[in-house]
Amino acid sequence: MPELPEVEVSRMGIAPHLEGQTITSVVVRDRRLRWPIPEGVTALAGAEIARVERRAKYLILHTDKGYLIIHLGMSGKLRVVPKDSLVVKHDHVDIQLSSGQCLRFNDPRRFGCVLLSEQHPGLDHPLLKDLGPEPLTEAFTAGYLHQRAKGRQQAIKTFIMDNHVVVGVGNIYANEALFKAGIHPKRAAGKVSLARLQRLVPIIKQTLTEAIAQGGTTLQDFTQADGQPGYFKQHLNVYGRGGKQCMVCKQELTEIRLGQRSTVYCKRCQR
Ligand SMILES: [Zn+2]
Repeated sequence: MPELPEVEVSRMGIAPHLEGQTITSVVVRDRRLRWPIPEGVTALAGAEIARVERRAKYLILHTDKGYLIIHLGMSGKLRVVPKDSLVVKHDHVDIQLSSGQCLRFNDPRRFGCVLLSEQHPGLDHPLLKDLGPEPLTEAFTAGYLHQRAKGRQQAIKTFIMDNHVVVGVGNIYANEALFKAGIHPKRAAGKVSLARLQRLVPIIKQTLTEAIAQGGTTLQDFTQADGQPGYFKQHLNVYGRGGKQCMVCKQELTEIRLGQRSTVYCKRCQR
């Protein structure tokens, strides 16, 4: 599943090809995504794209005729290709541009979405209006997290993965960040001291920033017909390593399910 770094790299990959372009037409080959693609998208013909924004894992195309919201779901991919290039299976939508290229959305599993919003969706769209702060902005601080965690019995791992608390901390990143910060994933969020959150928050930021930087090397893939910008290979200390040795203390790593998600930690290093 594309996580925040993959979506941010998608934004970086497509934005230079879209910003300043006029949409000449929108071709919908199949409406049946997670929610049906609204009929109104074809009315975006003639609209100019001012910018491509990312909010959580949503991409938002700002145009002078409204906002187009795109989510990649489980398997969605965006590419910028010449508009007459060969259409393959699961190429559900083309947003054709005055440059002669098009933004092509492919999604085999159809959990993605393409939606419209008249106003900026961050203000009033049900999918976006209640989201927590972006992890890589100044709004996400240890003080903020401490405030939100007060009195909460919820496990710290599920707490930081809650999009209402902070967006974009996916399962891999939560596992890795808690290991690096030495915090036990099941510890009650309200029982993690401010000092330990002051260690955790920069680690979350660093983990996400490193993944984005690594993905930055794949930007040209967005304009190649067979480009498959996929998961970023990263050095993982705990995720996927249940039963193996802790890289710090050699103790066997414990794997449990927490909130239905695989959770791996070191009993000795994480308290
Ligand atoms: Zn250890």
